[in-house]
Amino acid sequence: PVNRAARFLDGIGRPGVSTAALLLTAASGGGLVAYADSAAESAPEPSQDAPKKKVLVLGTGWAGTSFLKNLDCSQYEVKVISPRNYFAFTPLLPSVTCGTVEPRSIIEPIRRMFEKKSKDVTFCEAECFKIDASKKNVHCRSAVGTNLDGNGDFTLDYDYLVVALGANVNTFNTPGVLEHCHFLKEVEDAQKIQMSVIDCFEKASLPNITEEEKRKALHFVVIGGGPTGVEFAAELHDFLVEDLVKLYPAIQELVKITIIQSGEHILNMFDKRIAAFAEEKFQRDGIEVATGFRVVRVSDDLISMKSKSVGEEVSVPYGMAVWSAGIGTRRVIMDFMQQIGQTNRRALATNEWLRVRECEGVYAIGDCATVSQRKIMDDISMVFKMADKDNSGTLTLKEINDVLEDICIRYPQVELYMKSMHMLDIADLIKGAIGDSHKESMVVDIEEFKKALSHVDSQVKSAPATAQVAAQQGYYLAECFNKMEKCKEHPEGPLRMTGYKHLGQFAPLGGEQAAAELPGDWVSMGHSTQWLWYSLYASKQVSWRTRMLVVSDWTRRFIFGRDSSRI
Ligand code: FAD
Ligand code: MG
Repeated sequence: PVNRAARFLDGIGRPGVSTAALLLTAASGGGLVAYADSAAESAPEPSQDAPKKKVLVLGTGWAGTSFLKNLDCSQYEVKVISPRNYFAFTPLLPSVTCGTVEPRSIIEPIRRMFEKKSKDVTFCEAECFKIDASKKNVHCRSAVGTNLDGNGDFTLDYDYLVVALGANVNTFNTPGVLEHCHFLKEVEDAQKIQMSVIDCFEKASLPNITEEEKRKALHFVVIGGGPTGVEFAAELHDFLVEDLVKLYPAIQELVKITIIQSGEHILNMFDKRIAAFAEEKFQRDGIEVATGFRVVRVSDDLISMKSKSVGEEVSVPYGMAVWSAGIGTRRVIMDFMQQIGQTNRRALATNEWLRVRECEGVYAIGDCATVSQRKIMDDISMVFKMADKDNSGTLTLKEINDVLEDICIRYPQVELYMKSMHMLDIADLIKGAIGDSHKESMVVDIEEFKKALSHVDSQVKSAPATAQVAAQQGYYLAECFNKMEKCKEHPEGPLRMTGYKHLGQFAPLGGEQAAAELPGDWVSMGHSTQWLWYSLYASKQVSWRTRMLVVSDWTRRFIFGRDSSRI
């Protein structure tokens, strides 16, 4: 099937390229690599003394490190730029905010991660502030600024650029957010939140403070009911009931946690059952969930929000606020998009080979990029011609079924659409359009074929901005780079990143309970899910060192509780 798919897709997408070397189907095989043709084998071996191509990687987050880990670095001259010389395991950041896990337990030094490849990989701790695709270089600035010219600026050339810069927070230009709210994106953010929580408790314990002021100091507000906001609220609640009430008995009655969510439900990217479970649990715990409210302004002591249905504005006093309501675009990415004519977008658009559109040698992965999936209606005549093997101008069911697998690889929306409409096979889809009940003898012409597939493209979805997507894209791109020398003549052969493999999604809800959406449309909730979460997150750690640290942090917390010292 791989061979066939390659030929078929070649015909559609890139007429100039022969049945080239390699096909990688991330969706169907979870990273299955296969050679489809022997043409590549005759490509000349790279000569020993030819200079290696320069690969420049921007960013050391999930996408960047996954790329580097899987890249055969000896084939290239690899340089890595990032303002942080460590990788952070972001899914455990909410646990750092309340001291359940120590900050150093979730980070791994970059130089340590690539110790074995240190001959081929150079790392520079610096920030990239400009990508110049026309000159094929990037401009960087070091925070320590000890270059000879005195300011730490330098320029690096590349042959291939891998942009893995991630995203930053999005305040939607809401006044006061930058000045008064905490964010939860970096390790430093989590540490600041931890101190700020303790500050609020100490403030409320000072003498000569009115009860109203105490209540204000102890009102913790989370803006955004997505997984991060929800997990933070749950952590905070645990910290409160498990540790702080014993230490601050006089003020425990005055504490309040509120989640403000603009949509109708929290966790709305999860299954409805999970959202309902979380809302019920939070209600029992006394965490207030204010849905249907959009925050319009934040001042140093008030958060103002507008009800979406009624339109009235309410303001509430608060002690501490955490903003986790969406992701935005980094400045350097915005500038770059302007340069290459991709304006008014949140993320860099790439083709299905993760190459930035209209940009030679530049690839983008992770939160800073989105893959634009091809629409089947744009290629419909070509698809029809490919399927019509006997050139009869019509398609039989057999002709369609013969190419169906290829179609589904190239256009994953076809399968998604059939699934969403509860259709068993393609015959159901065609039947809907032509109204023929005799499946076996069904014949369609081009107009009927178009009609049958006309709604399929509504299921074109971009992958969510998550660590698993970022890591899978990094892996995929590294595999492509590893094979690139071998198929030099067709560096853009039929390599593709079709969708991603959904590995499930967790929402820890506090009190040793969690909810999860697992592969195969499986929903699981409660205490056992929390244990699944513990084992999964322990196993996902990037090194044995961090795994040890995280597990021992959890154990320490079980035995001694969390630490409330403000350091
Ligand atoms: P990042 O991991 O953000 O990496 C970006 C890299 O670029 C960083 O190394 C950064 O230092 C570097 N960089 C930034 N600016 C520059 C510059 N100018 N020049 C050079 N380098 C730069 N996803 C899940 O799948 N499951 C979860 O449970 C989960 N929990 C999360 C919890 C929190 C609190 C957060 C914030 C995110 C969570 N995510 C989770 C999402 C996940 O972290 C992101 O999707 C993932 O980090 C994206 O990877 P990335 O490599 O694109 O970006
Ligand atoms: Mg025919």
